[in-house]
Amino acid sequence: MAKKSADTSAQKSATTPAPKNRHKYIFVVGGVMSGVGKGIATSSMGTLLQAKGFVVNLAKVDPYLNVDAGTMNPTEHGEVFVLNSGLETDQDMGNYERFLNRDLSVTDYMTSGMVYKTVIERERNLGYKGKCIEAIPHIRDEIVERFERAAEVNKSEISIIEIGGTVGDYQNIMFIEAARVLKIQHPEDVIFVMVSYLPIPSTLGEMKSRPTQNAVHQLAGYGVYTDIIIARSHVPVDQKRKEKIAVACNIAADHVISAPDIDSVYDVPLNFEKDKLGDILMKTLKLVPRKNKASSEGLREWKAFAESVRNGKSEDGTHAPMKKVNIAIVGKYFNTGDFVLTDAYVSVLEAIKYSAYSLGVKPVIHTVNARDYENEKGSNKKIDFSALDQYDGIIVPGGFGETGIEGKLAVIRYAREKKIPYFGLCYGMQLMTIEYARNVLGLVGATTAEIDPKAPHLIIDIMPDQKAKLAMGHYGGSMRLGSYPAKLKAGTVAAEAYGKMTIEERHRHRYEVNPAYIEQLEQGGKGLVFSGTSPDGSLMEITELPSSVHPFFLGTQFHPEFLARPLRPHPLFTAFIKASKKRLG
Ligand code: GLN
Repeated sequence: MAKKSADTSAQKSATTPAPKNRHKYIFVVGGVMSGVGKGIATSSMGTLLQAKGFVVNLAKVDPYLNVDAGTMNPTEHGEVFVLNSGLETDQDMGNYERFLNRDLSVTDYMTSGMVYKTVIERERNLGYKGKCIEAIPHIRDEIVERFERAAEVNKSEISIIEIGGTVGDYQNIMFIEAARVLKIQHPEDVIFVMVSYLPIPSTLGEMKSRPTQNAVHQLAGYGVYTDIIIARSHVPVDQKRKEKIAVACNIAADHVISAPDIDSVYDVPLNFEKDKLGDILMKTLKLVPRKNKASSEGLREWKAFAESVRNGKSEDGTHAPMKKVNIAIVGKYFNTGDFVLTDAYVSVLEAIKYSAYSLGVKPVIHTVNARDYENEKGSNKKIDFSALDQYDGIIVPGGFGETGIEGKLAVIRYAREKKIPYFGLCYGMQLMTIEYARNVLGLVGATTAEIDPKAPHLIIDIMPDQKAKLAMGHYGGSMRLGSYPAKLKAGTVAAEAYGKMTIEERHRHRYEVNPAYIEQLEQGGKGLVFSGTSPDGSLMEITELPSSVHPFFLGTQFHPEFLARPLRPHPLFTAFIKASKKRLG
């Protein structure tokens, strides 16, 4: 139902008294160009404000028309990050949760598609009582309501909302307009941070601030005035340029925060602190830092973690080099044109790092294209697997479809036979089960219904409720998504890693281990162990080989990487890296 009459939000402000505990909003917009680290800047502001003792939520607005990120190809758009609620979101949401060390909610993510869908469905249900529905005010006001709802649902005091895209894009204009209206309603409580870019053309050798000035002016043309500029560049921004930008953009020079390129994203909050961004945000939001547990802890734990990422190098440069552990990720979403990107697996990469650092080893992550380990159709060239021996651990992450499957299966077989620690995530778990069926049980043609529903042995089959959804062509947001509980079997690798018997993990799949094959796969206690199942025992959640048989051969139907945090490494990743570390000798 429509919550509003034809009144616009802006009109409402004239009559609404300011609430007592006023919620604060920081909108983060991009200037000049995309890809300069707006998401990490947003996340880092969250870390800083939490350390000032406030409850913070981070939200992402994506201007595209997809209703969620679930249907997008990971090579184009990066990883699809899944929230507890099951919402499939942009990978930035993963950064937010990792930097805040808290779960975010369904209200913290929105796309143009989602907003339009709500408004259009409401119109179809006569929710606007016969009015003419237009982008302004209806779409804009729906966005404003969503900003407010996110603050409420999270019980947060400060919302930091990243508006996707760059100033000047046509697609994000409605979100900027909604933020402007929120500012009119709450002039004291809404501020704007621009994450901009200062190029240093090689022919000049000088940092140029004009594009940033233009972006700030363009935003001002929309009626939105920048309060703080995070100036991204290759090197730190000098005082002279800070002052130049300040005068041109109507802000104080200390509101230009220098944000040079650095090796580790985990140093970004600490770098921001060099320019006192935390204090400047407090001052601009008219807040005084809180005295509580979070603020007395401050950035202590974060600093210690950031130091370990720097390979044990402390800020003063002392260095205690760590042993390296080589981990291979065998996937297929790496290559785009002439470039190799790891964006599709960002949570997996980060999860490996957190566990490795917590164990005092430096992770060296290798991307391995699964297709390098399979023959082209019709060829039976002998494949050399010995390159895999250099890895201390191998991961096959989540995936879909047929490409690279035979390569992945061959790598898993090698890892099982050569006793290289192996960790399968979702598809990686399904494939390790198929590999076992094929090569240990001798079930010729064993596969998943995802590839060949008519194959003789469907070790992995479609979940019954999924069948109906696909038959109706319902692909978007229809997988088994989000957080579900599982129970663990005592005495297993999984139970030992978790140190508890029930867990909750995030899912994203349509297929499952076929119950008809479980007995056979278990081989009367001598085969695979299903060490985690859904509480009713019907869905296999974790597959493993006992530690007496293999140093680590375990896969999860869920995605543990989504719950790994810098300050809370995931127990299964830690168990996997521990096993990999042992291989180091
Ligand atoms: N394609 C598999 C399924 O749908 C695995 C999904 C995944 O790895 N996220 O079940």
